[in-house]
Amino acid sequence: MGARPLLNRRLAGMGTTIFAEMSALAAATGSINLGQGFPDTDGPEEVREAAVRALREGNGNQYPHALGVPELRTAVAAHQRRFYGLSYDPDTEVLVTTGATEAIAASLLALLEPGDEVIAFEPFYDSYAACIALAGAVRVPLTLRTPDFRPDLDELRALVTPRTRLLLINSPHNPTGLVLTPDELTAIAELAVEHDLLVVADEVYEHLVFNGAHHPVAALPGMRERTVTISSAGKSFSFTGWKIGWVTGAPELVAAVRAAKQYLTFVSAGPFQHAVAEALHLPDGYFEDFRDDLRRKRDLLADGLAATGFRVFRPEGTYFITADITPLGEKDGIAFCRTLPERCGVVAIPNAVFYDDVEAGRPLVRFAFCKQTAVLEEAVDRLSRLSRV
Ligand code: PMP
Ligand code: GLN
Repeated sequence: MGARPLLNRRLAGMGTTIFAEMSALAAATGSINLGQGFPDTDGPEEVREAAVRALREGNGNQYPHALGVPELRTAVAAHQRRFYGLSYDPDTEVLVTTGATEAIAASLLALLEPGDEVIAFEPFYDSYAACIALAGAVRVPLTLRTPDFRPDLDELRALVTPRTRLLLINSPHNPTGLVLTPDELTAIAELAVEHDLLVVADEVYEHLVFNGAHHPVAALPGMRERTVTISSAGKSFSFTGWKIGWVTGAPELVAAVRAAKQYLTFVSAGPFQHAVAEALHLPDGYFEDFRDDLRRKRDLLADGLAATGFRVFRPEGTYFITADITPLGEKDGIAFCRTLPERCGVVAIPNAVFYDDVEAGRPLVRFAFCKQTAVLEEAVDRLSRLSRV
């Protein structure tokens, strides 16, 4: 095979995701896994039952409709109308995908030419960098910095060049927990309109905004026709293994994303689509309880980490907390996360892997709090050993 590496250069250095690496470490050491963001309790029983029913009744056991089953597309449209007053035509403006991950990949592969520049906030969710690279495009980071991770909008404006094609935004933001304010979203939207940019808005944590409401960027003036909005049942209904996500947007955008999606997976798992359609029709109380439960868990873990000596950045959204390890006498999050399991039986994710500017993320680590209260309490107890030695 010669000296040429097998993995193509676009994916060089991206061989194994940090989530897979850290979940394997958790399993190997029997640690509490606060690394990869998945709930340790399944979502609503009636939704699980709906999946069983669909399987038994043969509803979706053969290739479903290329855009997604009509019931789910209708439910996605109804959800966008119910929560945000946005109207999308289920036949031309909604596409079901295999998780938000495929929605991101299909959007970027469909909308980018090699050499196009994509501005995204760093730390980036890991698949952004990989998919921008697969598209042959160039990522241009806007670094979010401690203590509040707010984007510097002047810096953002300065990053736009004639090659900029797309803004990739994520609010609520993984891993920092930043939630963009209506003013920030308005400034971003104005920039997109002024420079005629496309926007891909990853809103998978739309139901995990702890104060106030989620504001979809697609609702702002001039944005509907240029924004692809992405969400996922994994996050909102705690079924991350089902891999059902979706895209909403103007017909031309959805048609483009569909063109890429059809060669990635063609269609997404049928029976689960029927179940997620039912989930999206759950009453408002489900979404409120889900958010309130996660808010309590955020506070439990944030207080516990602070008591142990971490500098905690309390998230406004998502189910992740970013914390600085410097007050514990530590400098390097990657080394810290590699040894944390043997030191105290807990797994976390080093934020540095989500940055091009590695220094900005070096002392930061991320803990997931989508876990049972007793598990979080045990994790806090174990982590408190760090300040006892
Ligand atoms: N975007 C963000 C910001 C995420 O945190 C995740 C992780 N779950 C995804 C996309 C991928 O979602 P899915 O599991 O639906 O593919
Ligand atoms: N989105 C989840 C996280 O940020 C994990 C997804 C994955 O493992 N790819 O932790």
